[in-house]
Parts: sequence; C-alpha cells; structure tokens
Amino acid sequence: MIRRVLVANRGEIAVRIIRACRDMNIEMVTVFSEADRDAQFASLATKSVCIGPARASESYMNQANIIEAALKTDCDAIHPGYGFLSENAEFAERVKDAGLIFIGPSADAIRSLGDKATAKRIMRECGVPTVPGSDGVVATLPEAKAEAARIGYPVLVKASAGGGGRGMRRADDEQSLEAAFSEAGAEALAAFGSDELYIEKLILNPRHIEVQLIADRHGNVLSLGERECSVQRRSQKILEEAPSKAVSAELRAKFTEYAVRAAKAVNYENAGTVEFVLAPDESVYFIEMNTRLQVEHPVTEAVTGFDLVREQIRVASGLELSAAQSDIAITGHAIECRLCAEDPENGFMPSPGTIDFVHLPGGFGIRVDTAIFPGCRVPPYYDSMLAKIIAHGKTRNEAVYRMRRALEELIVRGVKTNLGQLYMVLYNREFLTGSYDTGILENAEYGTLNME
Ligand code: ADP
Ligand code: ADP
Ligand code: MG
Repeated sequence: MIRRVLVANRGEIAVRIIRACRDMNIEMVTVFSEADRDAQFASLATKSVCIGPARASESYMNQANIIEAALKTDCDAIHPGYGFLSENAEFAERVKDAGLIFIGPSADAIRSLGDKATAKRIMRECGVPTVPGSDGVVATLPEAKAEAARIGYPVLVKASAGGGGRGMRRADDEQSLEAAFSEAGAEALAAFGSDELYIEKLILNPRHIEVQLIADRHGNVLSLGERECSVQRRSQKILEEAPSKAVSAELRAKFTEYAVRAAKAVNYENAGTVEFVLAPDESVYFIEMNTRLQVEHPVTEAVTGFDLVREQIRVASGLELSAAQSDIAITGHAIECRLCAEDPENGFMPSPGTIDFVHLPGGFGIRVDTAIFPGCRVPPYYDSMLAKIIAHGKTRNEAVYRMRRALEELIVRGVKTNLGQLYMVLYNREFLTGSYDTGILENAEYGTLNME
C-alpha cells in the first residue's frame, strides 16, 4: 500500500488530495512554486518543497524537479491532480522509471487517448459511435475543405491535443473554414505546442453528458453514472450536475455500456471520464476521454457516496476496486458551481489580485472545495478557479435551493468573480425545467437598463 504521496498540483485539487490522504492515514508532500509560497495548500501537508519559479513550465510542469522532490522526500507515489502533468504520458513514464507509482492510468493509455483524433479511431474500432468526421488528422486546408464538404457543414475544427475548450472553431461554410482552420491551428500551437487538427460535424443543440469510470488492474471497471455539463461558456464547463435530466434509464444503460467498452478497449486503469454529446434525437456520440480525475468529480461523489480520490490511491496500490457495480446506487441530485476570479464586465478575463475578505458558505447539503483564505493572493500564472461549491439534495429542486442559499452566503472581495453569472443560471428558465443544451448561456436573454 502507498505510504507517502507527493501532490503535484496546487489550489483546491491539492487540498482535495491531501484530505483523501489524511482519511487514509497516508503521509503527503506538497510542492509549490515561488508564487505560491504563502499558499494554504502547501502548508497543509506533512512536508512541502519549492519546485521552481512562478511560471508553470518551470514549476508545476517541471517533470525533473517534481520527481526529484518525490525521491528526496521519500515518497512512493505521485498524484498529478488535473491539468498540468496529469495527462502527460512522458511524465507518467518517467515517474514509473524512477521507481514511483503514478496515480493514474498507464503511459500507453494516456498516449493513445490523449490524442483526440487517435482516441476517436480507437472508439470507432470497438463499436462506440463517434461524431462523424475526418479519419484522423487533416494536415492541409484543401484536405480540410474536402473533408468538410464530405461531412456537410456546419463543422467543428478541433485540435488533437485540445483541452479546456481551446483550439476549437466552428465553420458554417467553405469561406469560414479558412479562418477557422488557421485560428484553431494557431491557438492549439500556442496552448499545446501542436497544431494538428481534425474535423467533425457540429452537432446542433447538443448536451454534454459524461460517464465517470474507475478501473483496477484486475480487469474490473466500475461506472459511477453520468454528469451533465452543458452549462458552458466558450465550450468550458461552469456548472455541472448529476444525474442528468436528459438521461432515461435506457439511455443510461447505453452510455454506461459505451463507456465501459471504451475503457476495456485500452485496458484502462484508475479514474477516467468518457465524454459524449447527446443530440436532440437522442443519438449518442463519443467526443473524448479524459484520463484523469476531473474538476467536477464531487457531484458524482455526492450522489454515490463514493470517494474517488481514495479509490484512485487504492487501485494505484494494486488493490481491487472496493465496490462492485451492484453496490453503486445514485441517491438524490447534486450540482457544482465553479467560482472563478474573472471580470464579467471585461469578457470574463482572469482577474488576479489579493482576496482581502472571504466568507465561504456551509450548512446542510453544501460542500466547498477551495484553497482560498482571507489575504491570499490569486496569482496571474495559473487557472482562475477559486472554489467549487457543491450542493446535494434529495431532489433536483432541493439541490437548486441549497445552491441558491450557498451562493447568497458567499462573499469574495478583492478580485472580481463570476458569482453573478452562476447565480443567474439558478434562475434560468431552461435550466430550471432541465431542458437545456450547451447554448444555454449564449441564448439566455436578459433585460437592459435604459440609461437616458
Ligand atoms: P474538466 O472536464 O475536468 O473540467 P477541463 O477541460 O475544464 O476539464 O480541464 C481541467 C483543467 O485542466 C483546467 O484547469 C484546464 O485548464 C486544464 N487542461 C485541460 N486540458 C489541458 C491540456 N491539454 N493542457 C493543459 N491543461 C489542460
Ligand atoms: P476539450 O478537450 O476542450 O474538453 P471537447 O472535445 O470535450 O474539448 O469539447 C468541448 C465542448 O465543445 C463539448 O462539451 C461540447 O459542448 C462542444 N463540442 C465538442 N464537439 C462538438 C461537436 N462535434 N458538436 C457540438 N458541440 C461539440
Ligand atoms: Mg472535454
């Protein structure tokens, strides 16, 4: 069994992992950049090591420094969290070569699923439906034009290495394809160091539905049900819920079957999420698999009572899954809101600074995952997410009411946040009926004040 874990991440997810370690009586070591010297997550651990300057490429992405820190502090495993090195096959390999356990899937699984064009091919081959599109990467604009004409407009140009909604552009006709192709390529190159693109049909009015899986190395795969993540801004999730109002028992069986088949096709181990889009006619299409713990995993934990990080550590230690599929039941409804340091009056641009006052919500049915505290700095170098607020209730309505109460209690001063937008979603007519799609925020209509 793993004895001491190095947490190769920061912020709320570092705290989340530390908590699981505490519950399991496992020691933990945190790493931090020079910009995070005073951060709370670092001080919660048994030991903490500075791994480099503020820039992520020199600290949280610095493979050599992180592995060296783990060896020096006598850790036997590394948890990568999400983002940073969590989906880096080379890192997973190097961790293993150093004699340490990587708490996540094998480097091979990360490699084959991390490239989204390759992942789609693997899924097609094992009979999981994928969005109609190019067979792998399209290298040139003429090739892209030919593919798009074959598939039929509108199409989506997507980066093979994409993530976080970046490297993706819509094209409605051949003219707009030209701009979409060059913009998606440039954005992907800047963000991921690769401008490989593929093309798929744009599914109109889709819902984003994903299935949480966890697998052990003994061939067991557990499905923990679906999450709906259709409340998105620029293809990035801001509010998630479980279960989905759009998913009937039959549809759930279908999602589960596809997700488990996907995991078995690559001998998947540890936690992973299979993402789909659901079309209005109930067609289901695989879009990608995330080979890591996801930001929104707490809504699944709330409705299943299953600690995903604990289970990640257990299976990485070589143990069998602690539950069978028949042990998993969905109880009630959960919603998560992502609170980010963003300026709503300036296109939701990141709004770093110092938090001079914070009051976090609590009470029955509310969980808050965060690493912020009064006086803490929100550095400009990393993701702008400050906190996740998770509400659980017996029914969806109860979860909505509790989330409203939580957001009413929440106060953050010093940096601008998206709190207002989150609050408005909880009054959005489409959201309240449960009949919404990924266009929900774009289509929302609000009144304007006549300032004469
Ligand atoms: P989730 O479904 O877990 O919300 P996201 O796509 O929002 O996944 O990504 C979670 C975190 O990981 C975010 O902080 C995002 O910036 C980061 N991330 C996602 N994909 C990549 C990638 N390919 N490279 C670097 N960071 C990524
Ligand atoms: P990322 O790696 O950035 O998470 P995804 O492939 O998961 O990218 O897509 C992100 C979001 O973009 C999805 O949740 C969905 O809202 C939208 N999207 C992706 N592919 C399609 C598609 N073919 N048709 C319609 N919407 C899509
Ligand atoms: Mg995705």
